[in-house]
Amino acid sequence: MTDCIFCKIIQGEIPTNKVYEDDDVFAFLDTSQATKGHTLLVPKKHVQDIYEYDSELAASVFSRVPKLAKALETAFSESEGLNIINNNREVAYQTVFHSHIHLIPRYTTDDDFKIFMKNNSEHYSDEAMQEIAATINQALTNA
Ligand code: 5GP
Ligand code: ZN
Repeated sequence: MTDCIFCKIIQGEIPTNKVYEDDDVFAFLDTSQATKGHTLLVPKKHVQDIYEYDSELAASVFSRVPKLAKALETAFSESEGLNIINNNREVAYQTVFHSHIHLIPRYTTDDDFKIFMKNNSEHYSDEAMQEIAATINQALTNA
């Protein structure tokens, strides 16, 4: 896609700190470096978000995640864990609309990286939970 910053990075039109490339995917350092080694894994094919993946593309992209995760652990032995994040659409904080997976090594909880997931379980009865699961299951059946 001509106007996509990540397509330009993949094609070498914009300089980047590449960490990995194969036929299907490209991985490079996120300029923001939320933590040291913060890496983005992207499909070479321009897809906007997860809703544009098919199973084959998902297999090729997501199957590269453990390889990169282990490389980050080896590269930064002082890291103690890793957050893997994939934002989809604006409401979910996506800002670059070429699908990407963030790999963010964690060295300490005492950094500027935060994920806050409120526990809203008090608002959902057992029946409501069953209905939600059934609704998703029905959507999968129709997929
Ligand atoms: P999102 O918010 O869409 O999940 O993440 C987009 C990420 O792309 C951000 O973390 C941002 O720092 C990174 N980013 C934006 N522009 C560039 C760029 O030109 N080069 C690199 N390497 N990263 C970028
Ligand atoms: Zn693109």
